[in-house]
Amino acid sequence: MATRKSDQQLKIGIAELRRRPGNRQEVDLDLSFGETGLQDSSVITATVPADSVGHVHLVLESMSDGVTATGTVSFPWQGECRRCLGPTSGEVVADVLEVYKDVPTGDDTLPVDGDFVDLGPVVRDAVVLALPLAPLCAEDCTGPEPEEYPVVVEGEGEASPDPRWSALSDLRFDTGDAE
Ligand SMILES: [Zn+2]
Repeated sequence: MATRKSDQQLKIGIAELRRRPGNRQEVDLDLSFGETGLQDSSVITATVPADSVGHVHLVLESMSDGVTATGTVSFPWQGECRRCLGPTSGEVVADVLEVYKDVPTGDDTLPVDGDFVDLGPVVRDAVVLALPLAPLCAEDCTGPEPEEYPVVVEGEGEASPDPRWSALSDLRFDTGDAE
């Protein structure tokens, strides 16, 4: 079985597609999040691990000066309930509408990379933006039981859950910086 270099999975060849404006090409893939070419992605309370297997279903359409990509992506996420801090999980489903141009204009379009478009960053951004910032393990979660309240262990790193983070859930983050 031929395997492509994993982070090339979402580099899609478009030479055939671009022979005529209006041509369409379907991209229908199951792949792990790491195969978008990026590491684990997370917001404060939810993470899509790199080995999380999800689905990408996009339609590329040729224009005279570029290519559009529209469709949906879905990946499982894991997180921590904002009330009881217990484990919770779900599936993030995000719509994608992206425009690639031979000559990108402003921040709203991405460059066509020769005969390819790289869907990886687009998939990743769509997923991260749609992750829940304040997940619940259940709609009726009533919060921590005193005897179940997790004790903060020293030396476990900087990832200790802190309910104060929930105050950040209304903030919007600039997603332009992937560093
Ligand atoms: Zn809970």
